[in-house]
Amino acid sequence: MKALKYRNVIFTIVLCLITSLCFPVPVSADTGENHAQELRIGVPADRCPVFYIDSNTNDVVGIGVDLMRYAAQKAGYTAAFIPIKESNLKDALDNSEYDLLMPFGSAIKSTAGTPSIVTDNLMETPFTLVTVGNRKPSDTEHLRVGMLSSQKGVAETFTQLYPGMTIQMYETMPECVNALRNDEVDALLHNSYVWSYILQKPSYSDLTQQPSNMFSMDFRAGAPDTPEGRILTERINSGIAELSDTQRMAVILDYTSRRLYHYDFADYLYMYSLSIVLSSLLFIALTIIAVQRIRAVRRKHEEKLRWLTEHDPLTGTLSLQGFRRRVTELLREHPDIPYLLAYTNITDFKYINEILGRSAGDDLLRFWAKETEATLSEYEAIARLDSDHLAVLRHIGGEEKIRYDDEAVIDSVRSYFTDRGKENRVQVCGGVYILTPEDYRLCDVDHMLDLARVAEQRVRSRKKDGYEFYNPDQWEKGKRSADIISRLSAAKETGEIQVWYQPQMDVSTGRIIGAEALCRWNHAKLGWISPAEFIPILEEAGLIFELDFYIWKKVCSDLQKWNRQGLHRTVSVNLSRSDITDERDISGCFCDLIKVYGITTDQLHIEITETAFAENPTLLISTTERLRNAGFSVEMDDFGSGYSSLHMLKEVPVDRIKLDLRFLTKTGDPEKSRIITSYMVQMVSSLGMIILAEGVESGEQAEFLKNKGCSEMQGYYFHKPMPVEDFEKLIHAEKEQAPKEGTK
Ligand code: C2E
Ligand code: CA
Ligand code: CA
Repeated sequence: MKALKYRNVIFTIVLCLITSLCFPVPVSADTGENHAQELRIGVPADRCPVFYIDSNTNDVVGIGVDLMRYAAQKAGYTAAFIPIKESNLKDALDNSEYDLLMPFGSAIKSTAGTPSIVTDNLMETPFTLVTVGNRKPSDTEHLRVGMLSSQKGVAETFTQLYPGMTIQMYETMPECVNALRNDEVDALLHNSYVWSYILQKPSYSDLTQQPSNMFSMDFRAGAPDTPEGRILTERINSGIAELSDTQRMAVILDYTSRRLYHYDFADYLYMYSLSIVLSSLLFIALTIIAVQRIRAVRRKHEEKLRWLTEHDPLTGTLSLQGFRRRVTELLREHPDIPYLLAYTNITDFKYINEILGRSAGDDLLRFWAKETEATLSEYEAIARLDSDHLAVLRHIGGEEKIRYDDEAVIDSVRSYFTDRGKENRVQVCGGVYILTPEDYRLCDVDHMLDLARVAEQRVRSRKKDGYEFYNPDQWEKGKRSADIISRLSAAKETGEIQVWYQPQMDVSTGRIIGAEALCRWNHAKLGWISPAEFIPILEEAGLIFELDFYIWKKVCSDLQKWNRQGLHRTVSVNLSRSDITDERDISGCFCDLIKVYGITTDQLHIEITETAFAENPTLLISTTERLRNAGFSVEMDDFGSGYSSLHMLKEVPVDRIKLDLRFLTKTGDPEKSRIITSYMVQMVSSLGMIILAEGVESGEQAEFLKNKGCSEMQGYYFHKPMPVEDFEKLIHAEKEQAPKEGTK
């Protein structure tokens, strides 16, 4: 390293010596020949190291400048070098601002047509080729060569020397290099001194200068060919004549051995790109890791804070705040689970604290919470609200479960101290609130707690021990709902759920034209329960489709059986409004069923209640259309029960209207009911739809309807709904009768 440094210093000193020996300061200048004429010499400034601007002095310097200055001084001039503004020498020749212009290879004509005169040669400039890597141009005869467009003069000389080669001109050096790399040209041509500078650029390290000269160009100065021009060039020639080869070599060597190239930002980017990319990646990775760690720490901290505010430090159960959140969550996620909310309190807890000590009281609370918690599932929740008040959200799993929990937990709490050899028996008061559908919507946990607390206070003021319900009716209802909901799956298997048929008559012929399938449930625990009770409960719990589909399947299988017996019957099935949703393809369901059971579309009529149409007309109308397009008859059930019957008639595309007499005759004047019925029958018939009167209970009603033109009827007057065996007897009997009638 050190040796290299010394060598460089010695080299520089030798160079300076040679330069000072070669260029003794001209005597005239030294002797103060102040009146020497100043020559303004126009030169390009972008040909480092031949012509370029010194970044320190802002002067134009370079090999060409030094050689020309020497010749000018020898000729008795001082020289001022000005960067030419014009894009080429031909234009510059027409600018009288310059006395001389450089560099000329030979005389040329200016753009305006003025001929020029040139000086003698200042030096030979070798032109060399540059290629990518060590790729030697193969077909030297027909080489494609790229050049800068500012070197038009050189290009002309080159074409004369190498007529087989083609030249492509580019505005800038980066464009030239691009063309070379993209294989648009085989090599680039330029002055080899300039190459020595250009190729110092790090991103051009893939380029190689070919050793052999293509040719050399003269390097001269020139002026317009005028008398003054001639005198000038002649004088300059005398100066050039004094320039020795050694001097020339010294100047060339001086500039070509300097590191004139200054790295710009792009060069640094290129040189350090890998390190930059790697350090950027490292930086990004570190930032991501740091951000994630900060977030994780913050999250953990927040979780910890939340845990602290949502939990009771003594028992580890939820606090009131945590209970509010958890209950809301559970009610939103499980609207189908019937829940109760219990609020429990130890009577005279403060005396326990006083007599047995605080820690005994704390132990009791911890025991109580732990025992209760052990009976809860993940869908239930427990909290200690304050001192000795526990709240529990519990699934109403039937009476047995409550009793079990009560015995298992409360009894052990009651005997907590006696079990531990003390006399004190603990008394527990509880209030229970059964959640209503409204509570699932509003999720007002404090309100529910208040109601449970009201029941608890009733217990406290009277008995001091035990439980009471805030809403006992709701409790009974809730229990029945729970029994109904939890039994559905099993009931389908055991045959508790049956299909009964109620015949539909044509009174003009006296024949059974169809039947309505009605669901019956002989519940294992509750006995016979009415569809009016269990259907709304199953609708609320989102289970009605399960039941309806079971009924439809059973009806299809009965129809299949009758078909095989030669009885082609029609049955109307009920469709609950909750069966019809955007997600469910009801029409597809029925199509699949008839395919599976090998029955025909005319055998199934589908009843949809009128109020359903009023609730969601768009969806109901599209479902109806789809069912009818598939070939099924759609009936509007319970016509007359809603408020929008007349409007609905116009909008809804159904085949049959079921007019329910019970709605019409329920209240009011019988005469008015008759008038309304008669108009309704008339109106529906004139709209081209069939009308079936339902709920016909007397011969008088039947006669009246028949007279008004309604002959299809269903009701207790004809037949009550009956088990399938009874219905089968009826249709078989009718079949037996039919041929006899035919023979009459
Ligand atoms: P609905 O569709 O209007 O069925 C007719 C109801 O009227 C039946 O009550 C039937 O027993 C009763 N009924 C028939 N004729 C007379 C009569 O002359 N007088 C009186 N007072 N009542 C008569 P049911 O079977 O108790 O069904 C009640 C409701 O439950 C049905 O009303 C229907 O909306 C629904 N339902 C029944 N089975 C099913 C089913 O499988 N699926 C669905 N989604 N709903 C069903
Ligand atoms: Ca019906
Ligand atoms: Ca009905």
